[in-house]
Amino acid sequence: MHCPFCRNGDSRVVDSRSTEDGTAIRRRRQCPQCGRRFSTLETASLTVVKRSGATEPFSRAKVIAGVRKACQGRPVSEDDLARLAQHVEEQIRATGCAEIDAHEVGLTILGPLRELDEVAYLRFASVYQAFDSLEDFTAAIALLQMERTPLSGVRVAGPGRPADRPPPPAGGRGGSVPGGTASGP
Ligand SMILES: [Zn+2]
Repeated sequence: MHCPFCRNGDSRVVDSRSTEDGTAIRRRRQCPQCGRRFSTLETASLTVVKRSGATEPFSRAKVIAGVRKACQGRPVSEDDLARLAQHVEEQIRATGCAEIDAHEVGLTILGPLRELDEVAYLRFASVYQAFDSLEDFTAAIALLQMERTPLSGVRVAGPGRPADRPPPPAGGRGGSVPGGTASGP
């Protein structure tokens, strides 16, 4: 590939190593003409299959664009959005799939968005899980409240029973929603 500094049409690889999580290879390159070094990052291409069947490369920018609307008026910064999109991409890549449905991308967004801002989460979920009644919202809010964990304090392994998880809201799209309501690690 050409040098980004002098645009010489050639460069050579001087070092090549896997990123920590093993999902990419970072190469250190040097331009034989100007001698300057730069890095490239090689990742498996990740394809999003849209409802129409058309495909497009996964794009963090599109994730951000989709979430930004739900975050209007909320205390969510551009950095927060960038981190969320990175998180979503990492989560998708960790599945090892080279292709993912656009709808699954939306569902993957739910987890990190919920941690970021619950109101934005509800707005986004109402679109992606196709809430069509007040009951859907009520159920989602009840689930949020039930699963809300105290910010501080050690979790006591007491006699409490494990949280009963209510069934997903009716009218949702299809049965299983992998990762839809799961909280992060
Ligand atoms: Zn150069």
